[in-house]
Amino acid sequence: MDRLDNMVGRLHVETRLAALGRGAREPGQPLNVPIVPASNFRAPSHGETAREYSRDDGTPGWDALEALIGDLEGGPAVCFSSGMGAIAAVLELLPVGARVVAPRDSYTGLRGLLEDGAAAGGRWQLRTVDMANADEMAAAVADADLVWLETPSNPLLEVVDIAAVAAASGALVAVDNTFATPLLQNPLALGADFVVHSATKFIGGHSDLLLGAVVARRPEDRERLLRRREVAGATPGALEAFLALRGARTLAVRLRQAQRTAGELAARLAAHPAVSRVRYPGLPGDPHHELAARQMRGFGAVLSFEVTDAATADAVCTAVRVVTHATSLGGVESTIERRAKLPGQEHVPAALLRLSVGVEHVEDLWADLAAALGSPAADPMTQSTARSDVPAGSHP
Ligand SMILES: *Cc1c(COP(=O)(O)O)cnc(C)c1O
Repeated sequence: MDRLDNMVGRLHVETRLAALGRGAREPGQPLNVPIVPASNFRAPSHGETAREYSRDDGTPGWDALEALIGDLEGGPAVCFSSGMGAIAAVLELLPVGARVVAPRDSYTGLRGLLEDGAAAGGRWQLRTVDMANADEMAAAVADADLVWLETPSNPLLEVVDIAAVAAASGALVAVDNTFATPLLQNPLALGADFVVHSATKFIGGHSDLLLGAVVARRPEDRERLLRRREVAGATPGALEAFLALRGARTLAVRLRQAQRTAGELAARLAAHPAVSRVRYPGLPGDPHHELAARQMRGFGAVLSFEVTDAATADAVCTAVRVVTHATSLGGVESTIERRAKLPGQEHVPAALLRLSVGVEHVEDLWADLAAALGSPAADPMTQSTARSDVPAGSHP
């Protein structure tokens, strides 16, 4: 423990992002934990313990990232090869036949994993609920073993009261905190048992890696998660862990800029004649605004909006120039996607576009979106592409 370790609890989150997950604070040591491309380490002498094999014992690079994410969420963190690897590790802790309640609106991969498990001889029993429906929710959580929450949800930006669910249910509660990031919401402090992140998104922040993390409330759950990583093998890559930590250093400044822009774009889109609905919990008229304002420290940098029909939505994706038409979210570059084109997203309105706001200048983004929304049908280029260039298949 050096002097900084003793101060950490009193430091602001921006400072902790910059300061934690460093190596030894000694002269001659590098400021960053170097990439450690190691499967195995020299064995200890008799009676000593030391790191021996990375899948079992981790690496200095994973430790550094886990120290930072764990600090931000307030519990011990375990990193995995992807967000889905992290989600799967939590679900694997359940006994066979466990009753799992999951939101109707959630990341496609979670839905797929849960449905596969339910179909495969009842690895678990799945019940999906409309989390906005209090009665449906209360009935479902009453006899659940695990309640999975995703708030705000992907892509409908639905917000669930984490503390209320945790208090009302004797079940384990896991929260996918990818959209909020640890900066805007800390589910463990609200009574959740597990927090999951796709660090591929905001924590990494640069669309150049896949990585996931679980943060557990109880130290013994960390041991069980380490065991899952050890035996199932969803280990982070050395480069990915390095890049995720490097990206996390700037999370606060990236998110502050992106969130401010998202709020502005949400308001302007809501006033645009070609847009029928905007979903963003930061809008005062949003059905989730009050709860989000109470539960979160900010409304995030993802929003969804609806246009007239799917063809128009596809035309907007084709017409944008500054915004990138691509799946995924949380990067420094803004991305847009029509989510209903993905399998398993039938509940999503066909003309809904999910926009992940990056760090570009707000006026450049607005000019781009306004031009793309202008009159797509009148533009011969976007009109033809709306019909022929719709990407098919499943994207992560
Ligand atoms: C992307 C995403 C995931 C999956 O993360 P990967 O790193 O792609 O495996 C899980 N949850 C949410 C909310 C996501 O957006």
